[in-house]
Formats: sequence, structure tokens, C-alpha cells
Amino acid sequence: MNQFDHALEQLARATAVQSFDPALIRKISSPEREVRVTIPVVMDDGATRLFEGYRVQHSSVRGPYKGGIRFHADADIHEVRALAFWMTLKCAVANIPMGGGKGGITVDPKELSAGELERLSRGFVRMLYPVLGPKVDVPAPDVNTTPEIMSWMVDEYATLTGDTTGAAFTGKPLGKGGSEGRALATGLGGFYVFEALKDKLGVPQSSRVVVQGMGNVGGNAAKLFQQHGHTVIAISDSKSAIVKDDGLDIAAVEAYKKEHKTLVGFPGARSISNEELLELSCDVLIPAALEHQVTHVNATRIQAKVILELANGPTTPEADDVLFANGVVVVPDILANAGGVVVSSFEWEQNLKNEHWTEQVVFEKLQTLISTEANTVWERAHALHTDLRRAAFIVALERLGVH
Ligand code: GLU
Repeated sequence: MNQFDHALEQLARATAVQSFDPALIRKISSPEREVRVTIPVVMDDGATRLFEGYRVQHSSVRGPYKGGIRFHADADIHEVRALAFWMTLKCAVANIPMGGGKGGITVDPKELSAGELERLSRGFVRMLYPVLGPKVDVPAPDVNTTPEIMSWMVDEYATLTGDTTGAAFTGKPLGKGGSEGRALATGLGGFYVFEALKDKLGVPQSSRVVVQGMGNVGGNAAKLFQQHGHTVIAISDSKSAIVKDDGLDIAAVEAYKKEHKTLVGFPGARSISNEELLELSCDVLIPAALEHQVTHVNATRIQAKVILELANGPTTPEADDVLFANGVVVVPDILANAGGVVVSSFEWEQNLKNEHWTEQVVFEKLQTLISTEANTVWERAHALHTDLRRAAFIVALERLGVH
């Protein structure tokens, strides 16, 4: 099963709990448009290399397509299609006026120089700009894509189209039309969801937290949990993982990684495998990396009380069943990691209105919105005697259905 099969399986499981108009389900099961491009890039040695890229525009029912662009060696059409589908549901759960889309380029960006990366990013926009735009499709960062990459893309878009709003891309740097708080938004949104549900989740005031992933999302989430009195006992990057029973100082871990390019050898911590990290005894497990991390293979060995999904698609449907039966609460991606796209929608709105909101305003709006929706999903799950993923899907489908 690929990621999109999993996404459709999640849809089938939700609609088995509450039925919907079959026409809506058929519509939501196929993306509105998929574009595949071949991007020529002149490499530093003068040779031209071709890169494969995608943009999947899943649904514009509630607004312009919205979702990030991923640069990853394993990115393919199935993954991007699933991610686009989840964006549609996520924007509906978050109740923002956006549809769902996603992009990807099959590349390991760590193998490219800065110049090659810029030419690739601009090349992606050159191939796709006719189907992008503030009122059409608004991309943003995702795995391995940064505010700087967004600034190249929006600049290329402006050159090609004359658009001066900057609203064709979000997640831009602050001086280039970005919003206050966007960099922190996904991690912070996840933390607000956790705060909103904390008492109901039955976790201690000071929780033991494990974080998989140290990119923008995982790194910020780990720091936020630590700052708010929780103990982050383990963290990983794409190559290694470390554990320290009395807690890691995440800022120090980040500084160590910056200097040594690895987590291995961090003072006082023990190196473990990624598999061991996921199975550690803890209160909250935060997958903040890639899809398919908690599966039928390891679900029975998960010891966390709560899984807060800050990655997209980290838990397979088979694993969901095992976890639910074992009383592990999964706070689903389309709710838990919606903070990023929520603040992206604020950035888009500020660009279109030519406004600049303070960080305080951004964070207050984010917290109000995401806490409300977290409670909506929780109450729906309770009323329907189902899990939070099915409930979140149902809330999203109802909102998609009335449009
Ligand atoms: N890539 C992020 C996500 O998966 C953010 C998307 C956006 O800001 O449009 O939700």
C-alpha cells in the first residue's frame, strides 16, 4: 500500500462511522488536477541535470489549493497525492478558507550547492507558474524546504507574472512578506492542541516527551515542550537518535548538532536506533519526520500514552486499530500539525490586505482557532464513540460537503 492508498483507507474508515453523500466521497477520492514536470537545472560543473517535480491540486472546494513543496529523494506522485489530500482535510478541520494541494521534487537537497538549489527552486516555478497564484494555488515550505527557498520561488513568480502581492507563496522570510510566527507555527500549533486537550488526554502536568525529527517542526516542538516544563527524554534526526532519562536540553542538542553534524556523542546521552526511539516508555510521542513510522510492525510495542502527529501520515491505518485497542490516543496530523497552514493563511491574508500583524496577534489568533477545533474534534469523537482521526475526517467532510 502506498501513502495515497492509506489516505483512502482512512477515508473509508471514517465514512463507515458516519455516512456522506457518495458524490462528495467520489469527488474527494480523486485530485482535481495533477501536474508532473521535468525541471532542467544547470549544475555547477556546467552539465544540465533533469529533476522530476509534481504539484497535485486536490481540492479547491473551500478556497485556493494550499500546501507545501517537499524536496526529498523518495518524493513521488503517490506521496504527493496523499499529502495533497490530507491538506484538503486539514484546511477544513482548521476551518480556514483554503483547499488542498502539495508539491514535491525528487531530490536530496543536501547533495546540491546553494546555487543549484536556487536554480532548481526557480525552475520548479518556471514550469508551474501558469497553475499557481494567490487565488489559484499557494505553495509553502514542507520537508527540506525553507523560507529562503520560498523567497526564490516568490521572486521567480513575480518576475514571470508581475504579481506584486507576494501572496502566491507563504512561509517567506520576514523581510520578504513573511508573517511573524510562521517559522514556529507548526510546532506551536501542535503544542496548543496538546494544551487544549491535555486534561482529557490523562497525561501528567509534566510529561515525558519523545520527539522523532529535528527539522523545523520537531526542533521547535521539542523546545516548546521543554520550555513549558515537560521533559524531552529523546530526540532523533534523519540518521540517529539519542536518549537521556532525566531530559535533554534541546537548545544544547541543536548547538551540538550544528557543530558536529550529528547527534551521536551528545554529552550524557545514549545513542539508540530510530526503532527504539519510537518504542520508548513515555507520555507523549511526537513523530515529526515522515510517513509510515508507526505501522503494524511496531504498533503493539508503542508505550506512549499519546501520539501527537506533527508529521503528515506517520501512523498507518492498521497501526491506528492496534493503538486504539491499547488505549493509546492518536491526535491526528490533520489537526495536530495544522498550525503551519493556519499561519500560512494569515500570511496570505496579510499580503493581500497589505498588512503586517504582530507576533502576539498571530499567536492569539492561532491559539483561539486551533483550540476551538481541537475541542470540536474531541467532542465529535466522544459523541460517535470513535477515534480522533475518524472524528477529524468527519468534521472535515461535513465542512467540505456544505460548500
Ligand atoms: N507543509 C505544511 C503542512 O504539511 C504547511 C503547508 C502550508 O503552510 O501551506 O501542513
